Formats: sequence, C-alpha cells, structure tokens
Amino acid sequence: MSKIIDGKIISTAVKERVKNEVVELNKKGISVGLAVIIVGEDPASKVYVANKKKACEALGIISEEYALSENTTQEELLALIQKLNNSPKINGILCQLPLPSHLDEKLIINSIDPEKDVDAFHPVNVGKIMIGDYYFLPCTPAGVMEMLSFEGIEVEGKNCVVIGRSNIVGKPMNMLLLHKNGTVTICHSKTKNLVEICKNADILVAAVGRPNFVTADMVKDGAVVIDVGINRVDGKLCGDVMFDEVSKKASAITPVPGGVGPMTIAMLMQNTLTAAKKQNNLI
Ligand code: NAD
Repeated sequence: MSKIIDGKIISTAVKERVKNEVVELNKKGISVGLAVIIVGEDPASKVYVANKKKACEALGIISEEYALSENTTQEELLALIQKLNNSPKINGILCQLPLPSHLDEKLIINSIDPEKDVDAFHPVNVGKIMIGDYYFLPCTPAGVMEMLSFEGIEVEGKNCVVIGRSNIVGKPMNMLLLHKNGTVTICHSKTKNLVEICKNADILVAAVGRPNFVTADMVKDGAVVIDVGINRVDGKLCGDVMFDEVSKKASAITPVPGGVGPMTIAMLMQNTLTAAKKQNNLI
C-alpha cells in the first residue's frame, strides 16, 4: 500500500506560513489584499470563489469580491480590472474562469497587471515561467511541486510523465518539473503508446479530466502518482486515477478529494502574499 500524500496537511502548513508572514507585514503597516472577480452564475465557480474568500479571511488577507452579472460587457469588466490594477489596497487580482462566451478571455487575462496576476496566466508570467525567472507560479502545478517537496520526493533525474497539456495545468507542470531537473514527457489526447510511456514514469501526474483514466497497468511499481483531476461521477468527487488499484502499486499517491485540490487555494494565498511583498519592495 502506498503512502497517501495528504493535501489537507500540506496546504495547512503552507497557509500557516502565509498567515505568519501576513501578521509580520501588518506589523509594518502593510496589508495584503486579493480581488476576486466572478461573472455569471456558474455554480462550480461560485463554490471556488467562496472558498477563496474563506481562505483569505482565515489568513488575514483582505478579500474583495466582485460578483458581476452574466450580461456584463467587456468594457465594464476591463474598466473594473483597470480600477483594481491602480488600487494600492489590492495586491492580487483573480478573474474566475471560465468567463461567459461573449467575453474575450485572452483579452481579459492580458489586461491584468502582471504584478497582480496571482493566477500566473498573463503571457508575461507564462514567459517568466518558461525561462525560470518567476515570482508567481500557477497555483495547481505549484501545489504539486510543494507536495513533492514536503514529502521529500526528489525530482532530479527522475522520469516524469504529465498527462495533459493545458495552459493552466499540464504545460506549466512540465516546466516546473523540468526546472527541478526532471526528465519530462508531456502526453496528450494524440499521444501514441500512452500506456508504455506512463509505465516508464517515476513520477506520473494525471491532469486529464477523465474519471479512472489511469489504471494500474499504466503505473510502474513504486512510482509516485499525482492526481490533479476533479471529476464527478454520480455526484461523487473523483480524480483521474483509479485510486484503489493504483495505490497498491505506487509508492506514494494523492487522493481525490483531499489531495491536489486544497493545495491550489493555499498556493493562491502564497502568490497574493508574494505580490504584496513585491509591490512593497520587500523581495
Ligand atoms: P483540459 O481539458 O484543459 O486538458 C485536459 C488535457 O488532457 C488535454 O491537454 C488533453 O490533451 C488531455 N487528454 C484528453 N484526453 C486524453 C487522452 N485520451 N489521452 C491523453 N491525454 C488526454 O483540463 P485542465 O484544465 O488541464 O484540467 C485537467 C483536470 O484537472 C480536470 O479534471 C480539472 O477539473 C482538474 N483541475 C484540478 C485543479 C485542482 O485544483 N486540483 C485545478 C485545475 C484543474
């Protein structure tokens, strides 16, 4: 049976670290503020935004929520982002995706000041990640790296396989593993011999969005398996990995729920703190 990598414990440790630093900043008269924008009524997005707000409150981070109607125009949204870009009280800006289809997601992301882009989706921050000169990391891949580090799992020289090439998870995940000197293979929907490639992985990261996609026959004995997937089957949350059978083979594995999920919010809090420190010339 493998070790269960507990995202609740690790995210609590990250949040504790952030909270202590926020207290120290407050003592110097510096506040930390995050603005979260949500457009429309997507129920999953509403839950995510509520959780982010709760996390801010628990860590002493000021949170401003902007719940905009489904009919918000691009001009209105851009004007709000401009206002937040210029607000000294706000260190981080997050625009919850997906946006309604009449809004140009790329344009909106590009309008956020890169220094306040705590999701690290702005092309400037994406480029910085590419060349290894970054201060913000996208929250989910950063959360995975934090879990590996917390568990003392060495990446250097390991065969790392990431299934998924999205801009939010798969691609940056690849870069972060590469920066830690992993030998990285990125797989996607057009990959041939997926099973063979996965079987070679010392560290296997699944970010596919398909329940039970990774089965035991795809996993090498003793591999570390990180399940980023969040899926719902019959109303029940599950990941991309067939946990029951894979956990018998892996040396360590993240569960869903309680694995990577809680890390994402913790890393968002960390990015907001980093933004505040950067904007106050403390780093
Ligand atoms: P996405 O749909 O943008 O990307 C999925 C990727 O999987 C694509 O790159 C695609 O090429 C690949 N893929 C699809 N079918 C495949 C196949 N048959 N073989 C190999 N590759 C295949 O999704 P995403 O935004 O990257 O998210 C992936 C999963 O992670 C989703 O379940 C999402 O809900 C979850 N997620 C979790 C968190 C978290 O906090 N834990 C954060 C973001 C996303």
